[in-house]
Amino acid sequence: MRIEIVAVGTELLLGQIADTNSKWLGEQLAAIGVASHFHQAVGDNQERIVLALRTAMARSDGVIVCGGLGPTHDDITRDAIAEVMNVPLERDQAVVDKVRGMFSGRGREMPDSNLRQADVPVGAVIIPQTKGTAPGLICPVGYKVIYAVPGVPYEMSDMFQRAIAPDLRVRMAERGEATGVIASRVIRTWGMSESGVADTLADHIDQLDAVPGDGAGTDRGGEGDRSGRTATIAFLASGIEGIKVRVTVGADDAGAASRLLDDEEARIRDILTAAAGDVVFGIDDEAIEDAVARAVAVDGLTVGLAESLTGGLAASRLVNVPGASRWFRGSVVSYASEVKFGVLGVPVGPVVSEEAARAMADGARRVLGADVGLSITGVAGPDTQDGQPPGTVFVGLARPDHGTESFAFTVPGDRERVRQYATIAALDLLRRTLAPGAAG
Ligand code: ATP
Ligand code: MG
Repeated sequence: MRIEIVAVGTELLLGQIADTNSKWLGEQLAAIGVASHFHQAVGDNQERIVLALRTAMARSDGVIVCGGLGPTHDDITRDAIAEVMNVPLERDQAVVDKVRGMFSGRGREMPDSNLRQADVPVGAVIIPQTKGTAPGLICPVGYKVIYAVPGVPYEMSDMFQRAIAPDLRVRMAERGEATGVIASRVIRTWGMSESGVADTLADHIDQLDAVPGDGAGTDRGGEGDRSGRTATIAFLASGIEGIKVRVTVGADDAGAASRLLDDEEARIRDILTAAAGDVVFGIDDEAIEDAVARAVAVDGLTVGLAESLTGGLAASRLVNVPGASRWFRGSVVSYASEVKFGVLGVPVGPVVSEEAARAMADGARRVLGADVGLSITGVAGPDTQDGQPPGTVFVGLARPDHGTESFAFTVPGDRERVRQYATIAALDLLRRTLAPGAAG
């Protein structure tokens, strides 16, 4: 079963709002095993909405159209659907009464424009509104279907769960399709390039591709098309936050999907770790700071920072984690050299150096009363400093019973990126050192 999503609203095209409805619907369809190969966005123009609907109906088994069901003159989704169905609109008295009741319940008179919301294409079934005033519609078109829901996100999601998902299940059962689930998991890495990750996993992907009759493979195939029980792998470069590996599987139910994902995740972790070490820091929405929090928890240590070029960015990342106050002591933003010397006890001399990084880490530990001191010093650019080019970063790490170490990195990009990369590189180093292999 293939369902296409058509989001209606000129504000979507103008970039005034993001199409979060299509994103949400895409997730929901995947979760019930419905493939969605196309999303469209179209303005409030009847001719173009009709074109979008006809296009969708030609290549999919049905459409969910969201938006443009309101009472104003630019809400024309109903008219467009009637045109595609080749039927007239008919005023539904039950809807009129219900909308009027909603207004009088709030002590207000219903404007005549709201009558439009009671206009229903002949042959359509109404999805009763519980939250807003506009009802949704289930419109059979031959053996296909157009579902219409309001654009307001919570009305849209309510109607999807209450009426559309159950209707889709019935249709899938009628077609003899298994109503299963499609589930994904994202494995997050730091320290490898996208092509490095792809090359490392290439053999594994070839093996998946070779599984006969399983439809497994990469996104080159039909991602999300459960007809072949797909297991696909995709790579996503996520800006400065590392490379993501997304695994998508199809299964009969959520439990089976979760087991398949567990297996695939374990295999991918093994392959990546064997090739590049401890590069996996988390799954799904977990950020590097979450990985740090997990690593810190292993031995119950506290952490203190000394930041120079990152100016507090690392501290800001760590306090994203709920409960960080239990283990994060704070950060000395020692931007000026005098602060490094005076507050942290760094010996007077070049401050972009491994020696300075170590002294800063020691200073952070002492000044902040932390078990672990982490420091970041370097050159954000555009000018050189202490004879070092922009992108030079030194990280110091002072731990109990381990002495104090320092690490040199060269990170790419402009001033902003250098600071961001330096922050993530330092936090990644911290989580790897504190709990090797404990990620995820
Ligand atoms: P209403 O009865 O409120 O007029 P409607 O069905 O006419 O509902 P729209 O007017 O298209 O829907 O959208 C109402 C509001 O819902 C928009 O102002 C916008 O904030 C939000 N919205 C619409 N479409 C989307 C979308 N695709 N993604 C996220 N939000 C949306
Ligand atoms: Mg509207």
